[in-house]
Amino acid sequence: MKIIHSISEIQQLSRDLAQEGKRIGFVPTMGFLHEGHLSLVNVAKQHSDVVVMSIFVNPTQFGPNEDYDSYPRDAERDQKLAAERGVDYLWMPEVSQMYPKGEQTKVVVTELTRGLCGPFRPGHFMGVTTIVAKLFSALQPQIAVFGEKDYQQLQVIRRMAKDLLMPIEIIGVPTLRDEDGLAKSSRNVYLNEEERKQVLYISQAIKAVQQAVKKGEKQVQKLLSLGKDILAQAPDLQLEYLEIVDAENLQKLEVIQRPARVLIAAYVNHKRFIDNGALT
Ligand code: AMP
Repeated sequence: MKIIHSISEIQQLSRDLAQEGKRIGFVPTMGFLHEGHLSLVNVAKQHSDVVVMSIFVNPTQFGPNEDYDSYPRDAERDQKLAAERGVDYLWMPEVSQMYPKGEQTKVVVTELTRGLCGPFRPGHFMGVTTIVAKLFSALQPQIAVFGEKDYQQLQVIRRMAKDLLMPIEIIGVPTLRDEDGLAKSSRNVYLNEEERKQVLYISQAIKAVQQAVKKGEKQVQKLLSLGKDILAQAPDLQLEYLEIVDAENLQKLEVIQRPARVLIAAYVNHKRFIDNGALT
């Protein structure tokens, strides 16, 4: 595996691979890799000739009171894991390269970012779409792979790629979970045993809603109160939102008649967790 830092090198790589007729599969991450990230690499490999993973903790997608400075980082371990999984190129740019001096260009997806995490994390999705557009622009991959773990982000990026006429196929990958159901996340290292127990109510609530839908419940109000009852059993969990929305446009639903998604965001001891599941 080759490690690349500079933008000119990544642009050169892109030109070389295009000339060789090779398809680039791209996996953007913020590092501190876990099996969830690596499952995206597996999917990228299935759809491309060369896999490029980026590791970049993007400052513009963190709010002023969020964990940019303390976000877990371990470049050495990440390099080892990425190489073992068969990543061909690991791209680790510097902040000053991604945001050149005087930069003033932003990418904004309007409607899909209005609900769910949008109002609670002002500017977050603008940070995400701006950095992903920059990464796409420098590398020009044919395929890019994202996790359903960040479901709103996945839909926002799909929309951006479509709206900006980017010749890129966006592939979504189901959430990888620990055995107890907890969605794998770099931020799980913040959790002690007691906190982990509380966070587990999130995935349990999602599962209960999914099971109720499978048994035939279609009324969203009923499904939401079922989910809330489960979350209420976690004394230290503060719910930010529990919503059931259309799986594509993310609009709230009253009755489940088409592919839908249940999404939860909650805090445990000032640490924020999100999770979601398909309802159909
Ligand atoms: P992050 O490093 O948290 O920005 O995540 C990088 C990519 O990995 C995003 O597309 C995430 O949605 C995806 N991802 C994170 N956690 C998981 C997981 N547990 N299962 C599948 N994909 C994930």
